[in-house]
Amino acid sequence: MDLAASFNVVHERIRTACVRVGRDPLSVTLLAVTKGQPPAVVRAAADLGQTLFGENRVQEAKTKIGQCPGRVRWHMIGHLQSNKCRDSIHFFEMIQSVDSVALAQEIDKWADKAAKTMPILLEVNIAGEASKFGYRPDQLLAELAQINALKKIEIHGLMTIAPWTPEPEKVRPVFRQLRELKEECEQILGAPLPHLSMGMSSDFELAIEEGATLVRLGTVLFGPRSKARKEVKAGEER
Ligand SMILES: *Cc1c(COP(=O)(O)O)cnc(C)c1O
Repeated sequence: MDLAASFNVVHERIRTACVRVGRDPLSVTLLAVTKGQPPAVVRAAADLGQTLFGENRVQEAKTKIGQCPGRVRWHMIGHLQSNKCRDSIHFFEMIQSVDSVALAQEIDKWADKAAKTMPILLEVNIAGEASKFGYRPDQLLAELAQINALKKIEIHGLMTIAPWTPEPEKVRPVFRQLRELKEECEQILGAPLPHLSMGMSSDFELAIEEGATLVRLGTVLFGPRSKARKEVKAGEER
């Protein structure tokens, strides 16, 4: 299938999932994940009207972003090391993968130096998988106020990577728990959090049914990545 057809199919699947649960399709934003894809693919997607892209490794993103001028915006969706925070402030509109106070403090420090405010999502490891990064829900609730107190960070919501399973329906409780956790966070903060970033190629319709506002899709748009990349731990930055 060509890229235009893939985007059309995905937009239609997003719309259908929204209709099923009475949501406005405009309440779901498609983030195109271009890790492992060359800049030409980003430019082709941008020509089709796609504006929001995601990368999980800062080094790869830096190179690619430089080769993709125009009206495109980027989110960091992979595990972030503290020594990459400085670059991340400059290249990304949002960091979706904040999973510790220490990392939030480092982002806050560099954002301050750059005279910016950095929107972030807090990544949660809902299923408690040893292979994944992210907060345990109880840890997140304990540290939320401390992160929220940082002046140059704005918490916009939560992000999760669901476990892979051949039966997508099994991950529905994961998405539901992230939504409920967001509600608990809103109570603690006394303010609404606009974003739930959840849903990938194999499970995005379920995620939408459970309230996703950002779906992060790679394979379903661009086809499979090279095998070497697939074996990298989900979301990991090397
Ligand atoms: C690679 C990746 C995606 C996209 O995965 P697909 O299954 O190809 O849609 C989404 N989120 C994160 C954090 C990723 O690392």
